[in-house]
Amino acid sequence: MSIMSNKVALITGASSGIGRATALAFAANGANVVVAARREDELASLVAEVESQGGTATFVKTDVAVSKDVERMVAHTIDTYGRLDYAVNNAGIEGEWAGITDLTEDAWDRVLDINLKGAFLCMKYEARAMLDCEHGGAMVNIGSVNSFLGFPTGSAYVTSKHGLIGLTTSVSAELAPQGIRVNLVCPGFIDTPMHHRARKIVGDELYDVGLIPNVHLRRAGRPEEIARSVVFLCSDEASYITGTTLTPDGGYTLTI
Ligand code: NAP
Repeated sequence: MSIMSNKVALITGASSGIGRATALAFAANGANVVVAARREDELASLVAEVESQGGTATFVKTDVAVSKDVERMVAHTIDTYGRLDYAVNNAGIEGEWAGITDLTEDAWDRVLDINLKGAFLCMKYEARAMLDCEHGGAMVNIGSVNSFLGFPTGSAYVTSKHGLIGLTTSVSAELAPQGIRVNLVCPGFIDTPMHHRARKIVGDELYDVGLIPNVHLRRAGRPEEIARSVVFLCSDEASYITGTTLTPDGGYTLTI
């Protein structure tokens, strides 16, 4: 029997990149999977891929910055599978990069609304569902190496990712007595559509000469490598791990 048989995993931002790989990894470990994001076609094709591999999945169109959407996402999970065991709050945007004198209020709000308020809303409704189920559970939020490190023009994104440390550690302390573990995965450079958009902004030369040589492993990571960290933290193998960060970054944070 697979290690996550009869369990239910909810993943936001699953239409692309790390979220998509994470959904496939949970399904490969036997979990029933609920995938959420705004683009329905991508979610439908992910569900079809899980099913073609013998897994079980359903999707729910969700904007994590909208409270009613998040409430409906969790209700859909409970209506479909009757329980929630693992929740991965991964949805995020890089937003606009601009210096503090030029960054608009709208650009700031958009990044904070999706990356930080979105995680708060998800955790709120996921925690209610897990507590109602009375069987414990695990949440993983997706931070970044920018949960620890700033960069010029990145203040909105960096602030949102730093904020996830406070959100994760506080909620971990709140939910530990009920057997719900809460952790933060902080990836480095991971080969996803977001990564390619960021690379365009930074410029190929600065990226290849200034950034990747500072990664001990000298390469970007693969979404599947982050997915494995997330599945590990949700699994019973991580039964004594809560309120902390795991940084799959190829060694970058220690180097710079
Ligand atoms: P990606 O390929 O651009 O995927 C982002 C996902 O978030 C998409 O599925 C997108 O789906 C979803 N999303 C964005 N806004 C949303 C909203 N308002 N409501 C619901 N879903 C939303 O990027 P990725 O690299 O996989 O990023 C995933 C997470 O990892 C993000 O939190 C990112 O900050 C973090 N991260 C990435 C890297 C990296 O190098 N790639 C490094 C560190 C941290 P829709 O557009 O369909 O809604």
